[in-house]
Amino acid sequence: MSLEAELKVDIKLVARKNNENTIIDLENTKVGEGFFTIIAGPCSVENKEIIEETAHFLSELGIKIMRGGVFKPRTSPYSFQGLGKKGLEYLKLAAEKYNLKIITEALDEDTLKLVNECADIIQIGSRNAQNYGLLRKVGKLNKPVLLKRGFMMTIEEFLYSAEYIAFEGNKNIILCERGIRTFETKTRNTLDISAIPVLKKETHLPIIIDPSHAAGRRDIIPDLIKASLAIGAHGIMVEIHPQPEKALSDGKQSMIFKEFEKTIKEIKELADVLKVEIK
Ligand code: PEP
Ligand code: MN
Repeated sequence: MSLEAELKVDIKLVARKNNENTIIDLENTKVGEGFFTIIAGPCSVENKEIIEETAHFLSELGIKIMRGGVFKPRTSPYSFQGLGKKGLEYLKLAAEKYNLKIITEALDEDTLKLVNECADIIQIGSRNAQNYGLLRKVGKLNKPVLLKRGFMMTIEEFLYSAEYIAFEGNKNIILCERGIRTFETKTRNTLDISAIPVLKKETHLPIIIDPSHAAGRRDIIPDLIKASLAIGAHGIMVEIHPQPEKALSDGKQSMIFKEFEKTIKEIKELADVLKVEIK
């Protein structure tokens, strides 16, 4: 055994052990065991109209949490970087109008301050999943955090990242499996579906699936949503857009509203069989 392995202390705070399941209470909805919570929205907030149209659509479906990035971690610095502060304003306006909760990503310390003023859940993205300085910073806040799995991270490393947040005091953590990088080229990433039952054994934290970034293509997302429910995930976060072909980011993996609505209706029967409440 290497010295590092010998010195490494087991995961404590987020470990299942004797801990009760963590349920994140967001007033109008919950995330955790017994629930399948749906989060949806565009990859990026692009303008006031699209985010309002999305908020309206979600509220009609009874969905309570809307996603939308305003600080975007793009692979190329020439790609759309998000609307920044203006985007937060649009997000807030639309969410208030339709009584929705907001999740949006913080990229660093500066954007974390801004996001914390507006969001109900702070998203820490895949690329920042091992940014221990940032993890410690969100750990000091008193607000739910959605921690995405880094695309090169093992499940153990993922749990240690969550431990960093909990270590600073913030235990309101939702884990999100969003696909890992493999040799496969037919999908953008490979959805690690077995991570769900493994994580449910290892931690008391809720675990949701982001099928959009896993697949990178909208045609297989309905099947991945059904699989997410069947495997015991506590929810999903899905990218949707009224006109995906015109989206400024991740259009190829964004579902059109009609298709998304159809899928949500389809999973209701399965949820009844599994005795899981769709939220
Ligand atoms: C996103 O949710 O739009 C995003 C950038 O996700 P990830 O960090 O999983 O790539
Ligand atoms: Mn995206």
